[in-house]
Amino acid sequence: MFERDPGIGARFQGYRLVLNLIGFQAVRDCLPARWHPLLDEIVMDASAEQLILDPRLNEIGRLGAGRTGIVVDRQVLRHLLLTGLTVHTDAMLTGYDVRAGGNVEARFARRGPATADLLVGADGVTSAVRGVLSPRTTPTDTGVRFVIGRTPLTEEFAGLSTAYGSKITGGGVSLLLGAMRFRTPPKQAAERLAPEVTLPDIGDYVRWAMILPPDGSLGGLSAQDAVLSRMEGWHPELRALIDQADPDNSTLLSIRVVEPGERWASGPVTLLGDAIHATSPTGGNGANTALRDADLLRRRLIGAGEGRQDLLSAVGDYERQMFEYGAEAVRGSLEKLPAFAPEARPS
Ligand SMILES: Cc1cc2nc3c(=O)[nH]c(=O)nc-3n(C[C@H](O)[C@H](O)[C@H](O)COP(=O)(O)OP(=O)(O)OC[C@H]3O[C@@H](n4cnc5c(N)ncnc54)[C@H](O)[C@@H]3O)c2cc1C
Repeated sequence: MFERDPGIGARFQGYRLVLNLIGFQAVRDCLPARWHPLLDEIVMDASAEQLILDPRLNEIGRLGAGRTGIVVDRQVLRHLLLTGLTVHTDAMLTGYDVRAGGNVEARFARRGPATADLLVGADGVTSAVRGVLSPRTTPTDTGVRFVIGRTPLTEEFAGLSTAYGSKITGGGVSLLLGAMRFRTPPKQAAERLAPEVTLPDIGDYVRWAMILPPDGSLGGLSAQDAVLSRMEGWHPELRALIDQADPDNSTLLSIRVVEPGERWASGPVTLLGDAIHATSPTGGNGANTALRDADLLRRRLIGAGEGRQDLLSAVGDYERQMFEYGAEAVRGSLEKLPAFAPEARPS
């Protein structure tokens, strides 16, 4: 595996992921069964009423039906999924060539090429693999900007529990809060249940995300100060939550989507996850869909390895299904966007 980042924990990983039953089952199936008890110990059951609250935390409406799911920390999940794999870091893919014999040579900045029977581009919304395989498929900027961060979850914030999973709105911005309460702290859970796995030492936290007006910016402020500057007169616990955020895990994100359109002739290069179907996070389905891809492709490749079909027809089967549910996931996420960011400009 080749990763552009200089290390697995090198980049902002501030947020949690809410997985649905399909996404969570896909993770389980991709992991060895001996790690299932560990996986079950480092997640949290989510159930949120999805209220709309004013800045003093009074209920003023409902976002929709309540939402349930299983919450995982993105960084912890990443460590678990990468355990046991050979990961070449600081390896940014810059292009590839399909060779006469049918295999693929991938090229990287600052390191030599690598050759394989199949290249899977799981390289996110700006995918370099997609740039060669499907150059007309490009990201669309929705104009939505999130400032996102996290704050250690202490007793001080006990009064905010009704706000978790809700949208707090006022002054042209919305604030979304979500708790991450590990059943057991991940590092301790791994030490007890799977000593061969090393997980990061992370405690419980609240993930917060402020949706800014279209094309909003930090205006030269830190992420925290930019959020606080828009919260004059808000409930003191909400202001304290932002004030005590972890500065290394607070940042501005632009929300872009990728809609899978153009099909290519199946060959020894394919795409997975945001590289081919990037959703708006308001859909809560991007990681779920990426994990579904991973599990489906894994099953097809095992079938090919066992001689049940050849590699290219295995990849073709994967792509046929993935294009259909991937497009549906992007559509679904865009339909939900106006409830969170009324002035968004989806494609
Ligand atoms: C704020 C926020 C909240 C979200 N919440 C949810 C949620 O609750 N539930 C949900 O299902 N989804 C959620 N999502 C969506 C989810 O995060 C993405 O769909 C998911 O991370 C996609 O995974 P991926 O592996 O396809 O891409 P990424 O997570 O983007 O990973 C791509 C990887 O490829 C590497 N890379 C990029 N370019 C290169 C290159 N040229 N060479 C080598 N390596 C490269 C990157 O460094 C990165 O490690 C959320 C997204 C955001 C922004």
